[in-house]
Amino acid sequence: MARCRLCRNEKKNTPARVYLPAHRLPLCQEHFVSWFERYLERTIRSFRMFTRKDRILVAVSGGKDSLSLWNALVSLGYEADGIFVYLGIEENSFSLLSRRAVEAMARRLNRPLHIVDMPAELGFSVPDLRRKTRKYCSLCGTVKRQYLNHLAKRLGYSVIVTGHNLDDEASSLLGNLLHWNLKYLARKYPVLPAEHGFVRKAKPLCRHSVREIRLYAEIQKLPYLAESCPLSEEATRPFYAQIMDELEERSPGTKLRFYLDYLRRAFPLFAEHREEFLDRELLTCERCGEPAVSSPCLLCRLKEEFASHAGV
Ligand SMILES: [Zn+2]
Ligand SMILES: [Zn+2]
Repeated sequence: MARCRLCRNEKKNTPARVYLPAHRLPLCQEHFVSWFERYLERTIRSFRMFTRKDRILVAVSGGKDSLSLWNALVSLGYEADGIFVYLGIEENSFSLLSRRAVEAMARRLNRPLHIVDMPAELGFSVPDLRRKTRKYCSLCGTVKRQYLNHLAKRLGYSVIVTGHNLDDEASSLLGNLLHWNLKYLARKYPVLPAEHGFVRKAKPLCRHSVREIRLYAEIQKLPYLAESCPLSEEATRPFYAQIMDELEERSPGTKLRFYLDYLRRAFPLFAEHREEFLDRELLTCERCGEPAVSSPCLLCRLKEEFASHAGV
């Protein structure tokens, strides 16, 4: 096995434990951890996501991505607190186990964790949505996003960060390019500014691959939950993810190049015409005052619908 590149720079001869093909980098375990965090710091800085003066809210699910992100941000000295939305998914005790994982992580980091009980606060759970509509997966995403935005403002945070990784970003970019989904492409950037009542949002792990994140989570022994949502049935994404994996296999570094070249060279062209691609204008919900494409907004409509069925 090769020797650790960074140990070599320090005139030491440690065998590498990890090889990162996309970066052509052999590393020992210790240097992998410091590489992971420094690479995150460089991503945050080069996209001007936030600084150490910001109050950061990490949307944690209990999975390896969001817990690795939270751990690395705190280790880098950022003021990052967690927020967990309890979705009420009882299959395999999924929501309960996820909640335990994020609570264990908060204790380990000694950072505040906000827990939001969706069934108690909104009057419906994700399984309730599922009984109502077949599009519950995208609905769950929309509801969570809107609700997190509202909570971040209420709790006084300046930026919401999520654990989206390079594999997520590259495969969704491919899917959206194949459908020429211009509205989406014009907003496909790892940091979105605070505007129209939205809090700033960032995806600091956008340059880290799933494999790198899993390695970090394992080496750091993070208390993450390995299972993914039992209700998830994203039909098309795994297919694009598979294609991206094959391309990466043949030519390591493809995902990173594809994604970063998009951001550098194509995104500015799409972003220039962003307003033209919007199919609906942004309004303000007359009930809750949040930005939305309709008024009352989706969240307020759902709350009302479920409230009117309560006790039936
Ligand atoms: Zn080393
Ligand atoms: Zn509303």
